[in-house]
Amino acid sequence: MAATFTLGALPAAAQGSLNVYCSAQVEWCQAAANAFQKETGIRVNMSQKGSGEVLAQIRAEAQNPRGDLWFGGTGDPHLQAAEDKLTAEYRSPMLDQLHDWARRQAEQSQFRTVGIYAGAMGFGYNPELLARRNIAPPACWKDLLDARFRNEIQMANPQSSGTAYVMIATIVQLMGEEPAFEFLRGMHRNVNAYPRSGTGPIKAVARGETGVSISFVHDAVTERLGGFPVQYVVPCEGTGYEIGSMSIIAGSRNERNARRFYDWALTPAAQQLGAETKQFQTPSNRSTPVPAEAPQMSQIRLIDYDFARYGSSAERRRLIERWDREVNSLP
Ligand code: PLP
Repeated sequence: MAATFTLGALPAAAQGSLNVYCSAQVEWCQAAANAFQKETGIRVNMSQKGSGEVLAQIRAEAQNPRGDLWFGGTGDPHLQAAEDKLTAEYRSPMLDQLHDWARRQAEQSQFRTVGIYAGAMGFGYNPELLARRNIAPPACWKDLLDARFRNEIQMANPQSSGTAYVMIATIVQLMGEEPAFEFLRGMHRNVNAYPRSGTGPIKAVARGETGVSISFVHDAVTERLGGFPVQYVVPCEGTGYEIGSMSIIAGSRNERNARRFYDWALTPAAQQLGAETKQFQTPSNRSTPVPAEAPQMSQIRLIDYDFARYGSSAERRRLIERWDREVNSLP
């Protein structure tokens, strides 16, 4: 790092450090850590984990926090952390530059979290693999129950993955809770695995290991640009979405540095690192260019996702436990 300092800058050690838990894709996490470190001289230690896993880690470390800032991942577990006071209040001067949906995330959490990006849920599929097996791609949620998808579907495990929880919360909102769980039990027959990470299923689609994934549609774009045969579709009944979020961990020992990262991460320059690392969520700063490749949120039939309810501690915990008991335990 020392080689990159501008004249007069202090060595990194004098600027201190910052421990970031990152639930975005690892390429973006790394790019953000490098760019911030280069710009400020603050040494960034970054570890990448799924949204549910980071929440569990922050809770486990609450008496002796090791992390300072949680960057990225779906908004519901950030809201849950806020409610449980595992994250700290901070009113960034950058809030005025954000889209309403991102600021609302901050207001709803008493300023313990903030939206950094948005992305819609859908299906990824491998058109070559499906064509070889003579299977028509899915168009609607209800198609996922069809016998033609026997052992062809992957979704992540909602205990570790925020992506998978958004899927469950979405169909509960679309169908009502009892029909939604009936749906999940029916779909279970067609699921070949529930991997830990939210991006596991789309990567399995890209590698030709499974025909269909339940994923954020921007993740399908990433794989397609990586040269893999991947398409996406938004379910005909409508779909849910995430407000990818960022929070400062309560009791952080490097709170000043955490606030500095927080303000920086809300700037257009920092947010553009997403697209530069082939991540095509919609950025939360109104002035950050939306990448041309990003799925256009305004063209997608989105439900009015109830973030307050599905990000509440009791509801999120209850739905995940119910899924584990009634779906994951099935043969
Ligand atoms: N990676 C990308 C590209 C995402 O959009 C998200 C959601 O915010 C995640 C990872 C979150 O991962 P997980 O579902 O494992 O919590």
